[in-house]
Amino acid sequence: MLSVAFLGLGSIGRPMARRIAAAGFPLTVWNRTTDRAEAFAREQKARHAKTAAEAAKDADVVVTCLSTSADVEQVIDGGLLPALKKGAILLDCTSGDPATSRRIARKVAANSVGFVDAPVSGGVRGAEEGTLTVMCGGEPKDLDRVRPVIEAFGKKIVHCGPVGAGDAVKAMNQALLAITIWGTGEALVALSKSGVSAHVALEVINASSGRSNASMNLFPERVLTRAFPRTFRLALLDKDARIAAQIARDERVPAPLTQIAADLCTLARQELGDEADHVEAVKVIEQWAGAEVR
Ligand code: NDP
Repeated sequence: MLSVAFLGLGSIGRPMARRIAAAGFPLTVWNRTTDRAEAFAREQKARHAKTAAEAAKDADVVVTCLSTSADVEQVIDGGLLPALKKGAILLDCTSGDPATSRRIARKVAANSVGFVDAPVSGGVRGAEEGTLTVMCGGEPKDLDRVRPVIEAFGKKIVHCGPVGAGDAVKAMNQALLAITIWGTGEALVALSKSGVSAHVALEVINASSGRSNASMNLFPERVLTRAFPRTFRLALLDKDARIAAQIARDERVPAPLTQIAADLCTLARQELGDEADHVEAVKVIEQWAGAEVR
C-alpha cells in the first residue's frame, strides 16, 4: 500500500487526511502550526512529524493542501525538496495557480519526483463524506499512481490536461461561484427591500432558470438562517477569482465579469477581514443597500 504524507491540516485538509487514514494508508501528517498535527495524530491512525521534510522522507505520495501555490513553493524551497523520495509523486490539492504549479513541477522533476495538481471542489462536507470533485493536471501515469489516494476523498476525478490544467479549471469554477453569490445577493437584497420575501423568491428561482449552487444551497442554508458558518474563507475565494482573471488576461480573453468578481471579492475581503467566510460577502451588498436578505 502507498505510504502517504499529508501537509496542511486546514479546514479542508483535515477531513481529507482523515479519509486517507480511514482508507488504511500508512499516514504521516505535518502542519505549520504543530498543535493541529499533534491533535490529528492523537485522534486518527497517523503519525505526526515536526517538519515537512521529516513527514515526506519515506512517502510514496506527498499531499499538499495549503492556502496558495506560493505557500507550497515556500515549503518546497524551505527543505522539502531534497527530502522527497525518488519516484514519489507530489499531489498538490491546493487551489493553486497554473504558472507556479508548472514551476514546482519542474523543480521536483529534477529530483525524479512527479507532480499532479489536484484541487478539489465540494467543501468541507464533501471532504468529510469522500464525495469531492477532483480536477487533475499532470502526466496520466502519475495520476494513475496516485488515484487510489485521491479515491479516499474524491468521487468524481477528472484528468483535465497537463500540469496546471487542474488549477485553471478550479479557478474558473471559483470565478463562477463568486459571480453567482454576488448576483444572487444583489437580486435577493433588491427583492427583500421591495417587499418580496427572500424565501418566496428562492422558491421561484430554484424552480427557474436563474438557479445555481448559491441559490439552491448557500443562500437557504447560510444567508436566510443568518448562520454564515466559516468553512471556506473569503480570502481564499478572492485568491481564486484573481487567478481566474489572470488566466483570462494571459490568454488575451476579454473577461470583464471575471475581473469584476475578483475586484468585488478583494473589496469584500478588505471590508470583512481575512477570517470571514466567502458567503459573508453578501453582507457588503446588504450594507450598501441598508437592507438585509429576509
Ligand atoms: P485554511 O486557511 O483553513 O488552512 C490553510 C492551511 O495551509 C493550514 O494548514 C495552514 O497552516 C497552511 N499554510 C498556509 N500558509 C502556509 C505556509 N506558508 N507554510 C506552511 N503551511 C501554510 O484553508 P483551507 O483548508 O480551507 O484551504 C486549503 C486549500 O484548499 C486552499 O487552496 C483553498 O482554496 C482550497 N479549498 C478549500 C475549500 C474549503 O471548503 N475550505 C474547498 C475547496 C478548496 P496553519 O495551520 O499553520 O495556519
